Amino acid sequence: MIFMKKEKRNSQSDIMESIISLCKRRGFIYQGSEIYGGLAGTWDYGPYGLALKNNIKNLWWKRFVDDRDDMYGMDAAILMNQKAWQASGHVGGFSDPLVECSKCKHRFREDQLESQQQRSDPKTGGPKVRSLSCPDCGGALGPARQFNMMFKTTVGAVESEDSISYLRPETAQGMFVNFKNIIDSFHPKLPFGMAQIGKAFRNEIAPRDFLFRAREFEQMEVEYFIRPEEWEKQFDIWEKIRMDWCLEIGLPKDKIHIREHAKEELSHYSKRTTDIEFDYPFGQKELYGLAYRTDFDLKAHSSTSGVDLSYFDEETKERFIPHVIEPSVGVDRTVLAVLSSAYVEDEMGGEKRIYLKFAPAIAPVKVAVFPLLKNKPELVKKAREIYALLKKEFNSSTSLGAGAVEFDDNGNIGKRYRRQDEIGTPYCVTIDFDTLEKGAGVTVRDRDSGKQERVGEGELVKYISGKIG
Ligand SMILES: [Zn+2]
Repeated sequence: MIFMKKEKRNSQSDIMESIISLCKRRGFIYQGSEIYGGLAGTWDYGPYGLALKNNIKNLWWKRFVDDRDDMYGMDAAILMNQKAWQASGHVGGFSDPLVECSKCKHRFREDQLESQQQRSDPKTGGPKVRSLSCPDCGGALGPARQFNMMFKTTVGAVESEDSISYLRPETAQGMFVNFKNIIDSFHPKLPFGMAQIGKAFRNEIAPRDFLFRAREFEQMEVEYFIRPEEWEKQFDIWEKIRMDWCLEIGLPKDKIHIREHAKEELSHYSKRTTDIEFDYPFGQKELYGLAYRTDFDLKAHSSTSGVDLSYFDEETKERFIPHVIEPSVGVDRTVLAVLSSAYVEDEMGGEKRIYLKFAPAIAPVKVAVFPLLKNKPELVKKAREIYALLKKEFNSSTSLGAGAVEFDDNGNIGKRYRRQDEIGTPYCVTIDFDTLEKGAGVTVRDRDSGKQERVGEGELVKYISGKIG
């Protein structure tokens, strides 16, 4: 890693480059199909990225499903009957304006070019209306045409109109089509929600900004069913839940902005939407959406399928189609927001360093254990014992990816700290000669301050639990 001089290092795109490079170097995230030159808009998660992502997903599931009594988890199939996408409006309307350069034939999203070229007008410093030109060669752009963003495929051996299916562009519809199943199996009372984590796919015209706009991504969505007259109250409740979530995963409050959608930009199904926008290194852009979808989806599926998707209220003896509030969370955008707000360059002991200031709850590795020296068997033996003890205690709390506890005896201690700092490990435990000879416990080093504390062996588990929560 080359450190540039301070005055050169304040460019935000430099920071994005540094984050992408750290992600690759340390095994978080790789370009998809990299050895073949990549596949635009796809990213592969390595062990630490996977652990970070799983920690975020597990925490979301805990807060939005397990901790509550009114949620029903789902894992619906990605492929759905094409009629579901006709009913939802995606076959007819899920499209972006595509423009093609007449000279170099490159393709762009017209709306993105508009905001880009207006924003960067150097003469006025402000928005300016002018005709759009190709950002790659300056050539003239052809007329815009609507491009449907769903990935189309066929199901089964015979290709025909009837065999068309799509890779789902959102997880929401998999829940709406199961609404009646949940009602019939569980007889829930309003308000209640369905929740799902899963992959979604959008054939973006111009994937960009690392994980921000990818063609394959993951969503965590809740469809919260309510009585129509309660929608404003419920909307406010979900805005609060969403903000608490942002703070719990360590996003700084001053980088979070709530943006109300104007009437003309609302999706076809929504009466009110507020986004949480986040200050990414490439600018303030959408992170999460919260939409009041009314009864649009259930009504549409009900009339297209011919199946009654109404709800009967036993107390009031009313039958009606519930309305829906939808808090929608992109997993990969969360990973990107977390990574970019955790990324810190500072100086420690007269040397430059990089570290990821993850909230301990989502850090891929919580504790690393080192013997001070690799070539002293008695140190290594003791360190292995402590490693086994911590692993037993903390590993069960995470899932696949990387273990929550790591053992490292490579290189010198400074090198190990540097590596753990770069993957965002909050605590490092070192076993030295005082541990063995004087029973003086171990040293625990804090990632953010670099300070070391001696902690008795017997207190170590309790000490670390107290720190990482
Ligand atoms: Zn061009």
